[in-house]
Amino acid sequence: MKRGRSALANGNVVRSAVRSGRVPSAFKSGTPARVHHNPFDDVLEQIDRAAAVLHPDADALEPLRHPRRQVIVSVPVLMDNGRLRVFDGYRVIYDNSRGPGKGGIRYHPDVNLDDCTALAAWMAWKCAIVDIPFGGAKGGVACDPLSLSDGELERITRRYISEIFDLIGPTVDIPAPDVGTNSRVMAWVMDTFSMKKGYVEPGVVTGKPIALGGSGGRLEATGRGLLFVTRETLRRVGRDLADSSVAVQGFGNVGSNAARLLHAAGAKVVAVSDVGGAIYDPRGRGLDMPRVLAYHRETGQLRGFPGTQHLDNDALLRLPVDVLLPAAMEGQITGENASELQARIIVEGANGPTTPDADEILSRRGVLIVPDILANAGGVVVSYFEWVQDRYGYFWKEAEVNERLEEKMVAAFDAVWSTKEKFEVDARTAAYILAVDRIIEARSLRGLYA
Ligand code: NAD
Repeated sequence: MKRGRSALANGNVVRSAVRSGRVPSAFKSGTPARVHHNPFDDVLEQIDRAAAVLHPDADALEPLRHPRRQVIVSVPVLMDNGRLRVFDGYRVIYDNSRGPGKGGIRYHPDVNLDDCTALAAWMAWKCAIVDIPFGGAKGGVACDPLSLSDGELERITRRYISEIFDLIGPTVDIPAPDVGTNSRVMAWVMDTFSMKKGYVEPGVVTGKPIALGGSGGRLEATGRGLLFVTRETLRRVGRDLADSSVAVQGFGNVGSNAARLLHAAGAKVVAVSDVGGAIYDPRGRGLDMPRVLAYHRETGQLRGFPGTQHLDNDALLRLPVDVLLPAAMEGQITGENASELQARIIVEGANGPTTPDADEILSRRGVLIVPDILANAGGVVVSYFEWVQDRYGYFWKEAEVNERLEEKMVAAFDAVWSTKEKFEVDARTAAYILAVDRIIEARSLRGLYA
C-alpha cells in the first residue's frame, strides 16, 4: 500500500472533467439514430409520460430533463503486478431539489456516463416515491471487480473517493452499494472520506457494516419492502397473503429474503429459482422456506431439494400462481413470454425485469404490475434510516427499523395507488407521475437561484 500511495501522489491525474447541468450531446433531440439503446431515452420517455397527465408548466418541466451534475474522473491505480492502470470513474447527481444526492457505486466493466445518468434519474424517482429527503445520484468505476485483488479493489476505491471527495458528503451526495460493491467497499469509502476530513463521518455513505454505523435490517430491507408491497397489492384486489400463491425468480439477497418473509407471513411460495433453474411444489402447498434456505446454504443450489419438481427459469415465469415476483435481473419478462404468463399480479423485485413490449401485452391482458421503483425501494428506505441514525449518533433496534420501513412502504404504495385511480393509469405510469409531480413541486417552491 505504501508503495502505491507514494507513486500515486505525484499528480498522476490524467483527466478530470466536471460538467454541470448539461445533457451530453448524444442525449439531445435531433441526434441521429443510435445503434445502442441509451437508457437515458427511457428516462425522457418516463418524464413525457408523466407530463402528458400532469400538464406542468413547460419551464418547470424542462430542468427535469437535464442531469444536475455529471463528473468523469481518472482513477490511476498501482496494480499488484507493479504496473499503473488508469480506470474511468463517474458520479452523477440527477436531481437534488428534495435533498442530497443518493445512489449506489457500481463496479462493472460497462459502467459509463449514460448509464450512470439514467440510473441517477431512477434513484431520484424512487426517493420521491417513498418520500425520503434525497435526490437521485449514481456513480461507479469501469472495472471488473472479479478480476481484481482485495488490495487493488481497495486502492481503486480510495483513489476514486479522493477524486470525488468535494462532491460527496452527508449533506451533498451519499453513495451506497450497487452491482459489484458491498459493505466492505463502503467501509473504505467511509474511511477515505473521514481521513481526508480529519474526523469520523459515517453519514457520508450507507450500506456499511454494522460495526461502522450500518443499520440493523439493511441487508434484508429490499425483500421486506417487497413483502409489504405484495401484501398491500393483494389487499387492494380483495385477496390475502394467506390464500395466495407466489413464485419467486432469483434467490440472491432480494429473492431469498422476499421468499423467506412471504412464507413467514403465510403466503404459499410454491416455486423459487436461481441461475441453475427452479424448484416447484406441484401440490401447491408451498415450499418449506427455512428448509429450502438451509439446503441452499449447504449445497449452494436449489436443484435437488426433496419433494420438488425441477423446472427451467422460463417455466417458473409461466406457472399458475397469484403473484409472480421476478427478483433476478432485468429483461426476464419479454414480448415473447408475456402472453403466456398466468399470474394476475407481478411485483417487480429486480430492476427492469419487464421489457416495454411485455408491459404493453400484460397491460392489455389486465395483469397488475407493481413497478420496481416502488416495489424494490425498501433498500433505499433503510439506507435513509442508516443516514438518519449516523447523523443522530443513536441507533434503533432492528424491530424499530422494520416498523418504520413498513410505514414508509405502505404510505408509498397508497400514494401510487391513489394516483393510479385518480388518473386512471397503470401503476407504473402512476409511480412516474407521483415522482415527477413531487420533484417539480420541490423545484418550483425553491425557485430559480440566480
Ligand atoms: P444477487 O446477485 O444477490 O442475486 C441474484 C439472483 O438471481 C441469484 O440467485 C442468481 O442465481 C439469480 N439469477 C441470475 N440469473 C438468473 C436467471 N436467468 N434466472 C433465475 N435466476 C437468476 O442480486 P440481488 O441483490 O438479489 O438483486 C437482484 C435484483 O434486484 C437486481 O436487479 C438488483 O438490481 C435489484 N435490486 C437489488 C436491491 C438490493 O438491495 N440488493 C435493491 C433494489 C433492487
